[in-house]
Amino acid sequence: MSAVATAVLEGRGLYHIYREREVETVALRGADIQLTPGRWTSLMGPSGSGKSTLVHILGGLLEPAGGSVMIGNQDITRLSSEDRARLRRQQVSIVLQRDNLHPLLDVAGNVALAMRLDGRPRGEIDARVRELLTRFGLERQSRQRATTLSGGEAQRVAIAAAIALRPPVLLADELTGELDSGSTDAVLDLLAEACRGENTAILTVTHNPLVAARADEHLIMRDGEVHRER
Ligand code: ADP
Ligand code: MG
Repeated sequence: MSAVATAVLEGRGLYHIYREREVETVALRGADIQLTPGRWTSLMGPSGSGKSTLVHILGGLLEPAGGSVMIGNQDITRLSSEDRARLRRQQVSIVLQRDNLHPLLDVAGNVALAMRLDGRPRGEIDARVRELLTRFGLERQSRQRATTLSGGEAQRVAIAAAIALRPPVLLADELTGELDSGSTDAVLDLLAEACRGENTAILTVTHNPLVAARADEHLIMRDGEVHRER
């Protein structure tokens, strides 16, 4: 792939400070990152280096103290909460280590949720849910409550739900952190398929070298800055 491929999401000069009473923690100090369609980027780095803060800002869950997050010509750090919610459904999905699913919905309901909120027609929703459940090997669990799934199943459902509306960007923060190696492999296969098959830009934050090994590009976070691994 060309080195000048256009980024779908670009964080520029991101700066963030947490203030808790008298204590200030500078979590990001000028972090830059670019995510490209069909490309899997891995971000590693010591605990406390700012990885989760970066993911939350890139996904529009947290407003940075400085810098910008561009999707096309739009700076998503300056959105109303309504536009932000739409952005999270349509443009940037996030999968975390756990608790990604709605506990009161079954598997099919979780996969359909973003499409329902987005007002998609019933027929389109049903077809996409069926397609994803088949592809992800989840047909048998379709009517099972999210709370009754194994960790690996829950994360597969979370990915299916996250890509249902075909967002151009998928962010994953330690998504296999609680899985055994077999389940980790299955989850990573699905991510790889989303990346190649749907041209999704993927960012995985991980401590697990097996996850990082799947990526096309390797970044390291140190003291709130992103560095290319050499
Ligand atoms: P990582 O994901 O790399 O472990 P984080 O982004 O979670 O790093 O944290 C970066 C720094 O910000 C750490 O020093 C952490 O203690 C601090 N931090 C994270 N979240 C908060 C918060 N909600 N309030 C105060 N400090 C926080
Ligand atoms: Mg973290």
